[in-house]
Amino acid sequence: MVNGPVNGVKHVIKASKRTLEIEYAIRDVTLPARELEKKGHKILKLNIGDPCAYDFDTPEPIKAAVKKAMEHGKNGYTPSEGIPELLDAIVEKERRDGVEIKQSDIVVTTGVTESLLLLFAATFEEGDEILVPGPAYPPYVTYIKLNGAKPVPYRTIEEENWAPDIDDLKKKITPKTKAIAVITPNNPTGALYKEKVLKEICDIVAEHPQMYLISDEIYDMMVYDDEFVSPGKINKEIPMVIFNGISKGYLAPGWRIGYMAFRDPSGALSEIREGVMRQARARLCASSICQYGYHKALMGAQSHLEALRAKLKERRDFAYKRINEIPGLSTQKPGGAFYIFPKIEVPYKSDKQFVLDILENCHVLLVHGSGFCETYGKGHFRAVFLPPIEMMSEAFDRIENYMRKLKS
Ligand code: PLP
Repeated sequence: MVNGPVNGVKHVIKASKRTLEIEYAIRDVTLPARELEKKGHKILKLNIGDPCAYDFDTPEPIKAAVKKAMEHGKNGYTPSEGIPELLDAIVEKERRDGVEIKQSDIVVTTGVTESLLLLFAATFEEGDEILVPGPAYPPYVTYIKLNGAKPVPYRTIEEENWAPDIDDLKKKITPKTKAIAVITPNNPTGALYKEKVLKEICDIVAEHPQMYLISDEIYDMMVYDDEFVSPGKINKEIPMVIFNGISKGYLAPGWRIGYMAFRDPSGALSEIREGVMRQARARLCASSICQYGYHKALMGAQSHLEALRAKLKERRDFAYKRINEIPGLSTQKPGGAFYIFPKIEVPYKSDKQFVLDILENCHVLLVHGSGFCETYGKGHFRAVFLPPIEMMSEAFDRIENYMRKLKS
C-alpha cells in the first residue's frame, strides 16, 4: 500500500506497541508452507488443531438445531450472558462433572478465546503475574501480555508425562501472582493431569488469598485411558473460573461458542465477574443460532463421543508407536486432546529450524515447540494425531527418511 500525501498532508499513524508485539508461532511456519503450496507442492499438514480440517464433522443433530434456530427467527441479539436454555444446559453439564454452579455464574462467549480476553482484561493491572503451564496454548501468553501482565511459565515434567512440577510452581509464586492456569488435557503436550496433582494445585491456591484458579477444560471429552477430572470436583471452596465450549468435543470450532463459569462460593471473584459482565454487555452477545446448536449438543444424545474417542485413540496409539520408532525422536503418550509433543534428540540449531527443514525436505508441516514456551517447549515439536492413519504413516515415513539421513 502506498502511503502518500492526501491534499498535501501526509498522515503518519502509529499502531499500538502492544499489538505489534503479538507473536503467533503457528503462523511462522504456515507462511513458508503456503509458499511451497503456491509452487504446486502438496503439504501433509500435522499442524492444525481443528478436527474439521481432517475427516471429522459436526454431528447432524447439532447442525439441525442451528438450522432450526435460524428458520424459527432466532436471529436477533441474545442476552449478553447467553440464552437461558443454554445456561441451564451448562449448569447441568458442570453438575455431571461434579461442579456446582448456577445460571448466573456463566457467560457464554465467542469461543473460549473470547473468555480469555474478557477474563484477563478484567483481572490484570500492569505488572500482575499469572502462572501458566510451560508449554501452553499460545493465546494465554499473548492475551496476558496484551493486558500488561506477565505470564510466568511453570515447568511441566516430560518424563512424568508432562505433569505440572509442583515445586517449580510453588517457587514462582510472588505477591503479584493473581492466578494459576491449568489446561487439562493439555495443548500442546496432550497431558491429562492426575487428580493428585490437581489437588496439590488447588491446595496452593487455597493458601494464597490473592489468587484464583483458571481451569481450561476444552478437551475434557477427548480422553483415551483415564477419566477426565475437573479441579472443580476435587476442591469445592477455592475461587475458580472454568472454560469450556463446543469447539473440540462437539466438533464445531468454527461456530465460535464457549463459556466461562465462575465457581466462586466465597464471592472472592465478584469484582472480576463484574468487570467481565460489563465487557460482555458492551460486546452484545455470542452468535445466537450457534448457542442453540451448543444447547442441543449438551442436552442431546452424546452418542458420537464413543466413536470419536475410539477413532482418536487408534490414531494416538499409531502416532505414539511410530514416532518412537524414528531414530532421533522420542515421545510421551498423550492421555487426551489430539496433540503429541515429541522431543528432537539430535543436535539441531533450533526446534524452529528443525520444523522448517522438515517442511522443506519432507513437505510435512509441524509446529516448533518453542512457539508454546521458550523455556519448556524448546527442542520439541507439536503434531496433531487427527489425520487418517494413511496420511500420518506417509508423513512419519518421510520424517524417518530425513532423520536417518541426518544420522548417517
Ligand atoms: N483452550 C485451549 C487449551 C485450546 O487448545 C484452544 C484451541 O485450540 C482453545 C482454548 C480455543 O477454544 P475456542 O475454539 O473455544 O476459542
